Amino acid sequence: MSTSPAGLSRRGMLVLGALALTAVSCSQPDQIAQRVQPAKSSPSGGPVPDDAWKRLLTGNERFAQGEQIRPRQELSWRQAVAGKQQTPFACVLGCVDSRVTPEIVFDQGLGDLLTVRTAGEVLDDAVIGSIEYGVHHLNIPLVVVLGHSNCGAVQATIDVVKGEEKVHGEVSALVRAIEAAVLATPENDNEEEFLAACVDEQARRMAVELPERSEVVDAAILAGKTRVIAATYDLQSGKIKEL
Ligand SMILES: [Zn+2]
Repeated sequence: MSTSPAGLSRRGMLVLGALALTAVSCSQPDQIAQRVQPAKSSPSGGPVPDDAWKRLLTGNERFAQGEQIRPRQELSWRQAVAGKQQTPFACVLGCVDSRVTPEIVFDQGLGDLLTVRTAGEVLDDAVIGSIEYGVHHLNIPLVVVLGHSNCGAVQATIDVVKGEEKVHGEVSALVRAIEAAVLATPENDNEEEFLAACVDEQARRMAVELPERSEVVDAAILAGKTRVIAATYDLQSGKIKEL
């Protein structure tokens, strides 16, 4: 079987291409088209990474202030996007924590975000493949690795590293994937500060590790088509900051 330079087999590329082309003819009402706020276009026609990030931060600001507009969630929009190819403008790799739902904390709607969630934003082949699908086939210009305050997965790893807790089943795989961030974080007697520093370190590490493990993402970054950002979300303030 022939293999593309990006490491995807021809069959794999075809499958991903078919996933991207779920087109069914559908007329889009003018008023809905006017509500779409696409990021500015790059010379290649796609949105620009920095504009995608600004759009996310603007939505998060609305959310943090309690002034969310919950865009693009009404019935007419749902029907409009159902029949055409999706065009999300950002990919968010976030934690599974139920309090950190990307579409809510960034105040976005249907079709805006490609989201992948694992405890502690841990990467594995399925996660990387999902992100590659977004970057390569949907031309997503921005990947945000989003950690968050009081992350239970990071806290559990700290407890295991300290010998204060044992984990069972496949949770141990998560702990192994977060352990390096905990070990690399300077010791701090203040447990709250240490957890926050470990959370930041984990998000940064996953943002670095993603292109290291993915030729597809790495090539998109080198071509200026995609940017990978590490960020954290504060449960209390609702604010997201770039690391
Ligand atoms: Zn978490």
